[in-house]
Amino acid sequence: MPELPEVEVTRQSFRERIHGARITAVRLGKPLRWPLGCEPASLVAQTVGEVARRGKYLWLALEGGERASGGLLMHLGMSGSLAFSDTPGAAGVHDHFDLVTTHGTLRLTDPRRFGAVVWSSAPDAGMAAKLLSGLGLEPFDPAFTGAHLHAALKRRRVAVKLALLAGDIVVGAGNIYACEALFAAGIDPRTRSDRVSRARCERLAAAVRDTLARALALGGSTLRDFRDAHGMAGAFQMQAQVYGRAREPCQRCGTPIRRVVQGQRSTFFCPTCQRR
Ligand code: ZN
Repeated sequence: MPELPEVEVTRQSFRERIHGARITAVRLGKPLRWPLGCEPASLVAQTVGEVARRGKYLWLALEGGERASGGLLMHLGMSGSLAFSDTPGAAGVHDHFDLVTTHGTLRLTDPRRFGAVVWSSAPDAGMAAKLLSGLGLEPFDPAFTGAHLHAALKRRRVAVKLALLAGDIVVGAGNIYACEALFAAGIDPRTRSDRVSRARCERLAAAVRDTLARALALGGSTLRDFRDAHGMAGAFQMQAQVYGRAREPCQRCGTPIRRVVQGQRSTFFCPTCQRR
């Protein structure tokens, strides 16, 4: 599943090239998770402005001449990827959205079709507002501090890993990154949220940021080598210290890494380095 770093690297891969481009055609494939929310033809002749990211959503601002005229909220779902190209070729069976512009074509390829492209008049209006409303802080937002994390975890009794995965305290800590951040912070992923001390929350907030920053740096450096977002998650996984390493020795202490299931997702941790 494309995670926040993959979405951010995707954004960086085309935001400058598409900026200022005029839309010349919109092609829809099979239905995605939600309907587009406007007539595709109504987008033609609009100009693409800034491409922003919020959580795992991208927002393509559109300008229709004098007045701002909304934008497209995009999500890669479980299996989606976005490519911006001068020569996209004919749409294949898994290509479900083409935004054809004077600078090139932005194409969403999504075999499982949990992805989405939704028009809204603003990021804080209509369907976009609905989809973005429950999101937690951005991990690189200065407001995401140990104190913030501690206050938010105090109100919950679920395991700390599940509180991170929920995405309503901080976005971006998907399964791989949550496992790795908890290892870096030395916290057992099964620890009840309201029992994580303030000092450990400081370490955990820093670990979430560091883990995502490392993934971003990796994505930036390997961008040319992977075809889509999944390749990047795979590359990060190769460097993971606990994720996907059940029964292998911990790289810090040699204890075999354990795998447990939490909320139907695999959790990997070192029972020696990570404490409740
Ligand atoms: Zn260990």
